Amino acid sequence: MVVVLKYGVSLEDAQRIRDTIKGKYPGLEIDISVGEERTLLLLKGSAERMISSDYVAGIEGVETYHPVLKPYKLGLRESHPQDTVIKVGNVKIGSEFIVMAGPCSIEEKTVMMEIARGVKDAGGKIIRGGAFKPRTFPSDFRGLGEEGLVTLAEAGYATGLPTITEVMDASQIELVARYADILQVGARNSQNFTLLDALSRIDKPVLLKRGAALTFDEWLGSAEYLLLGSRNDNGEYVGNPNVMLCERGVKSSDPNTFRNTLDVIAVIEARSKSHLPVIADPSHGTGKRHLVVDAGLSAVTAGAHGLLVEAHYNPSKAKTDGAQTIDLKALEKLVRIGEDLYRLRREWDL
Ligand code: PEP
Ligand code: MN
Repeated sequence: MVVVLKYGVSLEDAQRIRDTIKGKYPGLEIDISVGEERTLLLLKGSAERMISSDYVAGIEGVETYHPVLKPYKLGLRESHPQDTVIKVGNVKIGSEFIVMAGPCSIEEKTVMMEIARGVKDAGGKIIRGGAFKPRTFPSDFRGLGEEGLVTLAEAGYATGLPTITEVMDASQIELVARYADILQVGARNSQNFTLLDALSRIDKPVLLKRGAALTFDEWLGSAEYLLLGSRNDNGEYVGNPNVMLCERGVKSSDPNTFRNTLDVIAVIEARSKSHLPVIADPSHGTGKRHLVVDAGLSAVTAGAHGLLVEAHYNPSKAKTDGAQTIDLKALEKLVRIGEDLYRLRREWDL
């Protein structure tokens, strides 16, 4: 970290500030660099990540500071150069191209079974569906709860495909993990740190959506909660290594036309900076059925390992999010062309 001291701060004051910081963080090496207009403190070493920037900013005489290291590292290639591959059933997320598809909300059993079979026939590898739905207004349909989880598990069993569903609160983790193979943290909960902490302790993979207004660093900061975990009895941190990042669109500057804007730049950045599997959700990322396939294919071109898509054999009958739900024919096309693009993308990654 480079700490810039205010104009006119003397060398003695700079030494005093250095000693104050060293007193709090004894592991740090701190050099003083006296320039023509400003004096700088150079805080060296990876202990920088432990420094509270709030604390440094509050010291009298400090004008500003510039971190050199990101305040997270476990999600970065710096600490794990190879791509992380998460094995769920026979599916290898982060290696082969995968599409997770199904309705927004889990539907009643016969409907869900038919969707699940259709998803499998279309080449989908994982069945999605929400039992606990985060809704903006309490009057909206909020999901079938445990009954939905049972149906989802049955659909997974009947097709032989793994399942993914959202967990909205730490108190639901045990129940949801009993039925589903992958737990999803929704966009609204991507900075629910108690939920993330609790999910760092489970042995099932977690898909972390990027909140609609989250910066890249904040998204990776949330992933760090899952990866870092908490201290065990020996004082070592143990986290959940099976984390995937999911870009699902940011607030649109044109909400009348687009519910959200799928941020393909964030997909490119996530692929380049992080070793974690990157998934894109073109359904929530657009909000409009006619945009979903093209947006999904753009995300594959940008480097996504997979897609999370809302699909139904009859989208008009979907309990929720019908306007952004594609039919099974469109899903089949998305999978087929997505696979070709994924192969091409891999070639140019080499
Ligand atoms: C969902 O996938 O059903 C969902 C609610 O997504 P998001 O959290 O991205 O809005
Ligand atoms: Mn939805």
